[in-house]
Amino acid sequence: MVQVQGLRCRECGREYSAAPIFTCEWCFGPLEVAYDYDAITASVSREKIAAGPLSLWRYADLLPVRGDAAVDLGTGFTPLVRADRLAAELGLGEVWVKNDTRNPTNSFKDRVVSVALSKALEFGFKVAACASTGNLANSVAAHAARAGLRSYVFIPADLEQGKVVTTAVYGGNVVAINGNYDDVNRLCAELASIYEWAFVNVNMRPYYAEGSKTLAFETAEQLGWSLPDHVVVPVASGSLLTKIRKGFEELHKVGLISEEPQVRVSGAQALGCSPVAQAWLDESDTIRPVKPDTIAKSLAIGNPADGYFALDVVRTSGGAFAAVSDGEIVDGMRLLARTEGIFAETAGGVTIATLARLAADGVVRRDERVVAFVTGNGLKTLDAVAGVVGPTATIKPTLEAFAAAVETEGPTP
Ligand SMILES: [Zn+2]
Repeated sequence: MVQVQGLRCRECGREYSAAPIFTCEWCFGPLEVAYDYDAITASVSREKIAAGPLSLWRYADLLPVRGDAAVDLGTGFTPLVRADRLAAELGLGEVWVKNDTRNPTNSFKDRVVSVALSKALEFGFKVAACASTGNLANSVAAHAARAGLRSYVFIPADLEQGKVVTTAVYGGNVVAINGNYDDVNRLCAELASIYEWAFVNVNMRPYYAEGSKTLAFETAEQLGWSLPDHVVVPVASGSLLTKIRKGFEELHKVGLISEEPQVRVSGAQALGCSPVAQAWLDESDTIRPVKPDTIAKSLAIGNPADGYFALDVVRTSGGAFAAVSDGEIVDGMRLLARTEGIFAETAGGVTIATLARLAADGVVRRDERVVAFVTGNGLKTLDAVAGVVGPTATIKPTLEAFAAAVETEGPTP
């Protein structure tokens, strides 16, 4: 793989060869993949990408894996939908929704897992594992099945039933922990030091995180190889937000986009778990861990690993943060469904509610081309809206009953 030089510490810059490691031995900083951008620039082109598969693997030149050895369920190249009805309701001009509900296990996590488990096979691992708030569990279980790997996924025991069933069905081990995600994550860090497993978000994390960049690549390609002015991204660990900006920057670095990226990046959190948004509001660099209490369980990371980096991206790009209540999250889910026909999970409700808040505050402007990243499918979190939507009426099968119960336009029977 000519394009990968190795791993580099994000704090001190020390370099390592590409291995299943994730922390710097010297300063304990996080490692990330280091690329040879000259080699990529020489090999990549818009034409080559256009001729590639209709999946994230069309960007294999910009990923740390050999594309021909990919663990692939058809992830990526999801629709970028022009959302005029939503824009009109929010008083905005040009709004697009990147609809990542349309991935194989119905969330953007398929992107990171497809990359992580492809790399795990290259390293010779036989077992895949993860700590998950739900969506990652679905995706690891499915991709492990596809790759013929055994799997162990660790989840908080109070997870939505829908996410447990849609993980267990793939036949791997599902271990429910009596604790929150941060407890699950801590246990997995301990397990990772004992078992030689590919923990996608621990020892495979540098490779795993790179999968998120493909959301930026697709967005630019689908906008005719141009960039949005402003993006709104949900924040859990903070990794997705930082990698979306990295994706835009890499497109410029390797010559796929001529304009210098000046994309404003805004972050969306649920009020019941908003450590990064709180630091932004406090104008502080310190992210104070919180105990999550929100219906947006897929974003419920109280101690976000990449929180500081996400804060830095939002600040330096001229974006903003908002934290929205559970009520606003439900309203956001219903607004997106009602205006655009897209049913998102609670995390999508967080993104749309944040977009609405930032539009009302004048932070997201009417003259901007805006992209909202909707990262998971509403069928995963039915409970969030089950209490507030339902049949218009329940009636006897007669015309009279219908006319009496349901408002219509046109003739009355
Ligand atoms: Zn270091």
